[in-house]
Amino acid sequence: MAFLNGKRFLIVGIANNRSIAWGIAQAMHQQGAELAFSYQNDKLGERVKALAEELGQALCLPMDVGSDEEIERCFAELRERDFTLDGVIHAVGFAPRDQLAGGFTESVSREGFSVAHDISAYSFCALAKAAREDLARTGGSLLTLSYLGAVRAVPNYNVMGLAKASLEASVRFLAADLGPEGVRVNGISAGPIRTLAASGVGGIRKMLKHVAESAPLRRNVTIEDVGNTAAFLCSDLAAGITGEIVYVDAGYSHIAMNLD
Ligand code: NAD
Repeated sequence: MAFLNGKRFLIVGIANNRSIAWGIAQAMHQQGAELAFSYQNDKLGERVKALAEELGQALCLPMDVGSDEEIERCFAELRERDFTLDGVIHAVGFAPRDQLAGGFTESVSREGFSVAHDISAYSFCALAKAAREDLARTGGSLLTLSYLGAVRAVPNYNVMGLAKASLEASVRFLAADLGPEGVRVNGISAGPIRTLAASGVGGIRKMLKHVAESAPLRRNVTIEDVGNTAAFLCSDLAAGITGEIVYVDAGYSHIAMNLD
């Protein structure tokens, strides 16, 4: 039986059909979930609406997570439509391009640091605030997407690594705070995948090649790999898991060197 039957999720972070959020939407749909989607701006709206239609889902709402008003409006609209949430998927990350190449000390700036943390980490907390009442009612969960740069100094990832560290700490603090209300909070640390956001990171092609050659599974992960884990983590099958960062990275984070 499909393990998300009767459950409703908001998917935040689809830009196109290569997005990790799209892999998650497909996996959740396969498991019987009903989905609502948000899109960052009008430019992406048409694409997100077309993808939603592919899954037979119609609810698509604008939401720039950098704006408290837009977050408020999106969740008010969901409530108005009686779309009570069992979960929210946060698959959003951004840092100005000049922050994602070259040496960390040279590239990091007050503005870049602030934007990266606001959009990539604080926004998860903002969505948790907005969804709290629904999730407490349904015993729902929150899920975000992180990367190894949160815990290791990865070339060119720079200030995004700091933002992901903050995001992973947010997972733990939210899990501790919302757990007594029956709400679970988890993250997936995904291996590199060729997406729009990833194309902004300097040296991404070399990174993909390196991981495919050295990870224990000798391959890169796909949005389907991440999607299936996300569907599991947001389901009752994962009822005992919260505050966790699950690595979906073909095992790369567990090795120190590959002498092939
Ligand atoms: P993507 O470009 O497809 O998705 C990023 C999404 O963030 C886009 O839909 C974009 O619209 C959204 N976004 C950015 N700023 C926003 C804002 N202000 N308001 C609302 N939405 C905003 O790329 P992706 O790789 O699928 O990224 C999804 C998540 O996965 C990100 O958090 C990313 O850091 C994380 N991640 C990606 C990889 C990878 O290699 N691709 C690896 C690990 C983690």
